[in-house]
Amino acid sequence: MIDSKIIVELENVVGKKYVSDQPEIQFLYHYDFVTAEPEGICDISIMPNSAEEVQEIVKLANKHKIPVVPWVSGINFGSIATPRKGGIVVDLRRLNRVLEVNEDDMYAVIEGGTTWADLQGYLEKNHPGLRAGITWSPPGTGIVPSCLCYGMFDLGMLGGSGAEFINGLEVVLGSGDLVKVGSCSLSNYWYGRQPLPDLAGLFIGWEGSTGIVTKAAIKLWPKMPFREDFAALGLTIDKGVPVMLKLSKAGLGICDLVIVNFGWGSSVQELNEKNIAKDAKEANMPDFVGLITTQAYTEKQHEAQCEAIKEICKEGNLRVLSAQEGAEVITPPPMQLWGCWNFSRGGGGQWVGTYCSTRDIVKFYNLAREICLKHEKIPQFYSRILFGGHYVVARTNINFNKNNPEEIKTTRALLKEIHEEVQQLGGVVMYKPPKWAVQTYKNRTLPATTELIEKIKKLLDPNNIMNPGQGIGDD
Ligand SMILES: Cc1cc2nc3c(=O)[nH]c(=O)nc-3n(C[C@H](O)[C@H](O)[C@H](O)COP(=O)(O)OP(=O)(O)OC[C@H]3O[C@@H](n4cnc5c(N)ncnc54)[C@H](O)[C@@H]3O)c2cc1C
Repeated sequence: MIDSKIIVELENVVGKKYVSDQPEIQFLYHYDFVTAEPEGICDISIMPNSAEEVQEIVKLANKHKIPVVPWVSGINFGSIATPRKGGIVVDLRRLNRVLEVNEDDMYAVIEGGTTWADLQGYLEKNHPGLRAGITWSPPGTGIVPSCLCYGMFDLGMLGGSGAEFINGLEVVLGSGDLVKVGSCSLSNYWYGRQPLPDLAGLFIGWEGSTGIVTKAAIKLWPKMPFREDFAALGLTIDKGVPVMLKLSKAGLGICDLVIVNFGWGSSVQELNEKNIAKDAKEANMPDFVGLITTQAYTEKQHEAQCEAIKEICKEGNLRVLSAQEGAEVITPPPMQLWGCWNFSRGGGGQWVGTYCSTRDIVKFYNLAREICLKHEKIPQFYSRILFGGHYVVARTNINFNKNNPEEIKTTRALLKEIHEEVQQLGGVVMYKPPKWAVQTYKNRTLPATTELIEKIKKLLDPNNIMNPGQGIGDD
């Protein structure tokens, strides 16, 4: 229970209308409503409208030693915005302005609570020649959390994970100080993370436990006049993956390369899970679907790129369909494939995801598939090839019924099992990891690395008020 005097102090910062300790409001923020993770407690929610207000809130939280949790939509799938130790949830959705678009250096400066829909709408209206990435998460989710948590979108082949799309940040530290990192710390331009030491890493991969980002510059890309989306179908994942890796290194104007399996594809059809086959083998269907997007500046260049893509797929025995031809098989991109979760089946969904070497995609799939089938769950596999083929993200989604405690138990056990097995693959890491998964990092890093992380956390958040109970620096 938080002293009512603190609520008055917070009301003085943002206005009465934007602070609440009412149960129906607290309920909205107390958990990630789709995961199998335990619930938390939100004592107060608050909606600031400027970086200065965020600063005042963090200073008050320091004075009273109350936890502060940055929040945009709270559906990150790792329950990492769930207030584990109570306190103030800072809902950033009033900070959703696009402050500047620099067409020459191709970036947008946005506020910390800007959603994908906010930016997309703004660009379509004001800068139609530029595009941001398109995520598969719902349009109302936050861009800054996605980028800070190594999210990914449909420009991943060009730019890498969301973290690599960040040019610079303005941040209120856990101490209440305001800092800028990147070129914006010395200039009016936010073109990159040069030339001082790259401090953006103090906020990337920390799950909001070192500070609240109030502004970020995010890379944009030119919208090319010619574009084609292909679906390549193959019998098995191990036959399809090498073709996708070959494509990633062939310089064919490819901006997105995604691999999904039969389980993912059939779930997207929103069929009743009980009536569909759990696995491609059972259904006697091809298991591999590759989604390929290419773009070009001239028609001739475009034709040549498309022809080469088809040729490489043919050599690898994949059947290629253009978006138009494949419209009956897959939704034509750009798309938001969140239908794969089919929340109508009881509303629960969680994944265990990893960044890994391109060498480990097939190994990850095989072990995750086996574990899913053992627990009678559909293995929904997804992998995206990033940064011109330098690395990949791979993950397995699990649907479950939130009203069925047995299913929640199975889901938790299954995710942990996949996670543990995946640790055996060389160089595997996680993204947006729930707390139980973060703990396992500490057994793997050098003691001095763990110590360094803890020292940084203490420096930036001396009273341990930032999203406590979450993130890598938490003890
Ligand atoms: C169906 C579905 C599909 C999805 N597909 C994708 C996908 O294709 N790609 C992808 O990247 N993600 C995907 N996601 C995951 C997720 O929705 C996104 O990563 C999203 O951007 C998270 O935004 P959020 O607003 O829910 O973040 P939140 O849950 O509010 O926050 C996530 C974390 O960031 C911290 N945080 C939030 N704002 C700030 C800030 N301003 N400063 C510091 N820390 C902050 C929070 O404390 C928390 O630790 C998907 C989710 C769903 C439900």
